[in-house]
Amino acid sequence: MKPAPFDYHAPATIDEAVALLARLDGEGRDAKILAGGQSLMPMLALRVARPEILVDLRRLGTLDYIRDEAGTLAIGAMTSKQAAADSALVRRAQPLFQAATELVGHRQIRNRGSVGGSFAHADPASEYPAVALVLDTGFEAAGPDGSRTIAAADFFITYMTTALEPTEILTAVRFAPFPAGRRWAIEEFARRNGDLALAGVTVTFDVDAGLCRNVRIAAFGVQATALRLTAAEALLEGRPAQAAQFDAASKEAAAALDDPMSCIHASSAYRRHLVGVLTARALGQAAARPH
Ligand SMILES: Cc1cc2nc3c(=O)[nH]c(=O)nc-3n(C[C@H](O)[C@H](O)[C@H](O)COP(=O)(O)OP(=O)(O)OC[C@H]3O[C@@H](n4cnc5c(N)ncnc54)[C@H](O)[C@@H]3O)c2cc1C
Repeated sequence: MKPAPFDYHAPATIDEAVALLARLDGEGRDAKILAGGQSLMPMLALRVARPEILVDLRRLGTLDYIRDEAGTLAIGAMTSKQAAADSALVRRAQPLFQAATELVGHRQIRNRGSVGGSFAHADPASEYPAVALVLDTGFEAAGPDGSRTIAAADFFITYMTTALEPTEILTAVRFAPFPAGRRWAIEEFARRNGDLALAGVTVTFDVDAGLCRNVRIAAFGVQATALRLTAAEALLEGRPAQAAQFDAASKEAAAALDDPMSCIHASSAYRRHLVGVLTARALGQAAARPH
């Protein structure tokens, strides 16, 4: 199948792109931003999405960067995922985000797909939203009223829906400094290498005098959007960083899930089981990681 007909614009500046989106929105016309096209183009081809107009960000040129801003890692929205995966700065400053990026699709997808595109797309099975929930991540959006920063907890609303307005462009993602010695891991299960995960779990925590502190656990692929597993976090907080505690937290992670998704590849019960197994693996792997 071919995409339904659409008009195409490729603005040269962010201001031009925002003004164009605002004008089209005011005219009641359905415009969609095009970044790397790795999710949008298949959706157009299948006619799952039928926007009247595509606003291509690839001519902007200014949203492709990875930099250290006084300890905060800033990544421009149009930076390719492979550039993020290959970056020594990303590996040093945000090792969990770097590891998550290597799990996204195949190299060809990562070469074309943008960092911002994955966050804006908010696929429930994507690694990125879950990672954003456990890291202190801020999303910078440019719109007709200027720029604003949205915290990860407020950014992901539901299935493929974020807090971005139709007139806003995600311009950058910022990660607060990752404390030295903090433990981290990401574990997922997919049917084939490079597929979107059937379920996944990511964790971060500190170990202070043998006890777990600042525990964050998030799951992806199980509900309409990534979610923090707060009951499991609470169970582990202040407890010894030991296998028995990890086992208890994993059981709680699975038990507390509210009605996991079901599809032809995995039932709701199977996804619940996976979350338990993956939480245990991630906690154990994080604890064993040299720091
Ligand atoms: C075979 C295959 C395997 C994949 N596996 C994975 C995987 O394991 N994990 C994973 O996370 N993803 C996976 N993906 C999806 C891939 O990561 C996409 O690159 C990503 O979802 C979208 O990035 P993009 O730059 O291509 O955005 P596009 O496809 O161009 O856009 C996606 C959506 O985001 C919006 N958008 C894009 N950029 C912006 C912006 N700056 N501001 C506002 N809105 C914006 C678009 O309007 C559109 O709605 C896979 C894709 C394929 C084809």
